[in-house]
Amino acid sequence: MAAKHFYLQTFGCQMNVYDSQRIVQLLTARNYQQIADPAHADLILVNTCSVREKPEKKVYSALGRFRSLKEKNPALMIGVTGCMAQQEGERLLERVPFLDFVLGTKEFCRIPEILDAMEVSRFRESATDLRVGVDPYAGLPLFSSPGKAAAFVSIMQGCDNFCSYCIVPYVRGREVSRPSRDILDEIRSLSDQGVREVTLLGQNVNSYGNRSSEEIGFVELLEAVQKIPGIARIRFTTSHPKDLSWRLIQAFGQLSKLCEHIHLPLQSGSDRILKRMNRAYTCSEYREKISELRRVSPEISITTDIIVGFPGEDEADFQATLEMVKKIEFDEFFSFRYSDRPHTQASLFPDKVPEETKRGRLNELQTLQKDITLRKNKTWEGREVEVLVEGQSKARVEEKTGRTRTNRTVNFPGASLRVGELVKLRIEEALPHSLRGDLEEMGK
Ligand code: SF4
Repeated sequence: MAAKHFYLQTFGCQMNVYDSQRIVQLLTARNYQQIADPAHADLILVNTCSVREKPEKKVYSALGRFRSLKEKNPALMIGVTGCMAQQEGERLLERVPFLDFVLGTKEFCRIPEILDAMEVSRFRESATDLRVGVDPYAGLPLFSSPGKAAAFVSIMQGCDNFCSYCIVPYVRGREVSRPSRDILDEIRSLSDQGVREVTLLGQNVNSYGNRSSEEIGFVELLEAVQKIPGIARIRFTTSHPKDLSWRLIQAFGQLSKLCEHIHLPLQSGSDRILKRMNRAYTCSEYREKISELRRVSPEISITTDIIVGFPGEDEADFQATLEMVKKIEFDEFFSFRYSDRPHTQASLFPDKVPEETKRGRLNELQTLQKDITLRKNKTWEGREVEVLVEGQSKARVEEKTGRTRTNRTVNFPGASLRVGELVKLRIEEALPHSLRGDLEEMGK
C-alpha cells in the first residue's frame, strides 16, 4: 500500500518535542511518512502550547494557513494535539470549522485509532480526558530516536504545584511518574541506537516518584541511568527550587555522567512577588541552593526563567529581580512578559502591570543578562572542553555543532566527525549565544 504523508508542526517546550517524536513513531508504524511541505500532506498535525498567550496566537495563525489546503483537498485531515487542545477541546472545533480532531495531552496516543476510524467514515472528534494518575506513554512501543546523539526521555507528566500564573496543572493534569522500569528500558534501547546523552523530562523532575507507587525517587533514578552502558551524559529539566533536595545537589559531585548544568526557574527576585506566585521559596533559600550547587560543582552552569510584570510587581520588586540577576550571574535565562492564562489564580488578580511597563522592564533585564552571558562565555576562551557531536552547524554546513557538558553550543570544523562522538575542543572564540572551537584530540 502506498505510504500516506503527514506534516507535523510543534510549538512549545521539550515535553512537546518529545510527544511529537512519539507521534512520528506512531504514524510511521502506520505507513505514514513525515514531509516538510504541508501542501503535499494527507494529514496535518499541530502539537500546541498554551503556557503563554504568544504561542497560542501562533497556533491560530498556523491553522489559518492550512485552511486553503483543506479547501483545495477536502480529504486532507487536520488535527490539533497538546496543551492548547487540552485547554480548548470542543471550543477549538467550533472556532476552527475545518479542523477534524482535537486530542488532549493524555489522548495523543489515540491518533492511529482516530485515523483508522476516519477512513471508514469522516467525523469530528474532541478527546480531552485528563485521566488522573494515568501514564500517557504506558503501552506505547519503546521510543526510538535513530541517528541522534541526544534524546529526551519523559519521566513524569503534570504538576501539583499550582503556581498562581501557570496553566500546566490544568492542561497536563496532576503529577504522574512513569514506572522506572519503562524509563530505564527506554534509555537502554536509545543507547543501543547510538544515543549518548539523555535529558530526563518532567514539569518538576525533583518530585519524581513522590506521588505514585514508584519505588524509587529521582536521585535513585539518576543513579540507575548512570549505570547504563553507552550513555555518556545525563541531564534533566525542569527543577522546582523548593524540591531541589540537598541529596540531588550532592549528586552533581558524585555522578560522573551528570552534566554540570541545571535549569532552576527563579521567576522573580522579590519575596513578595514569589509569595503571590505561590512559589513556596524565598530568594535567600534560592541563593543558598545556588551556593551549595557551586560548592559541589564549581563549573556548574545555571540557567533560569524570569517573568516580568507579574500582577502587583512594582518598581522595587523589579529592582530586586535585577539585583538578584546581578548577584547570581546566571549563565543564560529565558525571560517573559506575564500574560493571563485561563483558570489561573493570577488571571483574577486586579493589579495588572501595563504592557508598556512590562516591555520596558523586559528590555532592561535582557540587556543586563546579555552582558553577563557574554562575559561568562568569554571565560571559556582558550580552555579545553568535551563536546558531543550532534550534527551539522546551521550557520555553516561544512561545520559540526555540539554542546559542552555545561550546555553551551559549540560550532567547529570537523567534516570527518560522526554524530555521537565525544571530542576535545579548544574554545577559540566566545559569541553571545555560542562558542567557536577547534579540534584538539579525538575523544572516545
Ligand atoms: S511548578 Fe509551577 S510553573 Fe512549573 S509546571 Fe508546576 S505549576 Fe507550572
